[in-house]
Amino acid sequence: MIPVNEPLLNGNEKKYLNECIDTGWISSEGPFVQRFEELMAAAVGRRHAIAVCNGTAALEAAVAALDLAPGDQVVMPAFTIISCAAAIVRCGCVPVLVDSDPVTWNMDVGKLKEKITHEIEIKKNNKLKAIMVVHIYGLPVDMNPVIELAERYGLKILEDAAEMHGQTYRGRPCGSFGDLSTFSFYPNKHITTGEGGMVLTDNDHLAERCRSLRNLCFQAKKRFVHEELGYNFRMTNMQAALGVAQLERLDEFLTRKRRMGGRYTGLLTGIDGLELMPPRTGYAENIYWVYGMVLKDEVPFDAEEAMLRLGRMGIGTRPFFWPMHEQPLFRKRGLFEGEHYPEAERLARRGFYIPSGMALTDEQMEEVAMAVKKLMMDE
Ligand SMILES: *Cc1c(COP(=O)(O)O)cnc(C)c1O
Repeated sequence: MIPVNEPLLNGNEKKYLNECIDTGWISSEGPFVQRFEELMAAAVGRRHAIAVCNGTAALEAAVAALDLAPGDQVVMPAFTIISCAAAIVRCGCVPVLVDSDPVTWNMDVGKLKEKITHEIEIKKNNKLKAIMVVHIYGLPVDMNPVIELAERYGLKILEDAAEMHGQTYRGRPCGSFGDLSTFSFYPNKHITTGEGGMVLTDNDHLAERCRSLRNLCFQAKKRFVHEELGYNFRMTNMQAALGVAQLERLDEFLTRKRRMGGRYTGLLTGIDGLELMPPRTGYAENIYWVYGMVLKDEVPFDAEEAMLRLGRMGIGTRPFFWPMHEQPLFRKRGLFEGEHYPEAERLARRGFYIPSGMALTDEQMEEVAMAVKKLMMDE
């Protein structure tokens, strides 16, 4: 079986991990945590970086740091991971959804504008407080219109850059936009710490809020007297040691992923019935966090069936995200009733991704491409 993801850990990972063990620094107090934070802040061009235990926790800390009131609303894409909506809901806030762009699979900024102007100008909705931007699979969201909307209506921007290590939008690093941004270091991301995440911001107050929320809101003077409910979202020195080693190779990893994406596109272009990710847009070059594809409407089977058949040929796959408005858990809470986002629904049912990990070899890519060709020709 060709696994859907396998990380590359053959740089300084082992050396730095051994340092943790040799020095006894294995908790979040160790020196690698601060180093990793400094390196991430520098890589993205932010003043502050706050390392946390995973990308989901990073989103939760970021939303919590905004101190929104219960019932406040945050606009976000319908097509994304549950972590995004979960962070909003856990703060007592309400996600407001926007459909996807059919080509980039990101939040459609035209529809975002329609939604926001309709809510604020027509419905006089004054609960709408923030936009959560999520860059999906390899290309960033078209940020300029988002920034314009946020400025016009006084909305905060939260940028989920979990999949965007090293990516830029019009030359500016992803993760440098908005009030707060977050990353994940799960093993399928370009940079991994096993489990891990980071919140970044230029705002001193928000940084302090995130640091406090990460560490149970302990107080400087009376440590065990708490004014607020925090979390234990701390990252260990061992995770950060991996992160430092991985970050040393960010440029190399980025080049590798882009080369892989180009190679897959070369092998799969021209197969009838497949929609592939565009290699670039006017504002970015695809970094192929994963190599996704969507079965066109005329293909008589769906993604589930395609993944089953590829599995039988020894190819690991993963389905695309399932849209937020179709999540049973939110439906049970009475959210998104009667709402439809046709592009997100289509992507969820027709989309899947093939092995795309950092350790994938050229031979494996050829084998995967052959299997996809066979899958599409059998019909
Ligand atoms: C991976 C991912 C997350 C969650 O990160 P974890 O570290 O797995 O908690 C959040 N948002 C997006 C867009 C992701 O891809």
